[in-house]
Amino acid sequence: MALVRELSFALLNDAEESYKQNGKFLEEVLQSLHDVFGEVFVKSADFLETGEVVRYETPNAIRAVLKVGNKKEVYTLFDDINFCHCGTFARVLSGEGLLTCEHVLAARLARISGRMKVNRLTDLQYVEFVSDLVDYIKE
Ligand SMILES: [Zn+2]
Repeated sequence: MALVRELSFALLNDAEESYKQNGKFLEEVLQSLHDVFGEVFVKSADFLETGEVVRYETPNAIRAVLKVGNKKEVYTLFDDINFCHCGTFARVLSGEGLLTCEHVLAARLARISGRMKVNRLTDLQYVEFVSDLVDYIKE
């Protein structure tokens, strides 16, 4: 399982390189993403169509929180951390063989394809933002 996970994230790095070179996701890249991530990839592509990914970062860009959302749902993610509070991610944790959820994958694809919006926060705003988030997790 760990190996599959490593390979799948290596695939995302390859997809990023390929996107930089070609300015788009090539058919073969989309196909391999689909092969590896399956239904989660389909849902994440759908999410990118209907929703948005916003990155809230501090001025030095060291810390960032992402909001991935559409009209129906919004999830908060931490940059480069494979974790989400959604139902799909509960299935990742239960060991069903899913690698990640559609929100984490959508965030990554948005970053690769330049569809991520960036909002700058001051350090203080960031602290407030994260403490709101911690309250939300506790609930
Ligand atoms: Zn999720």
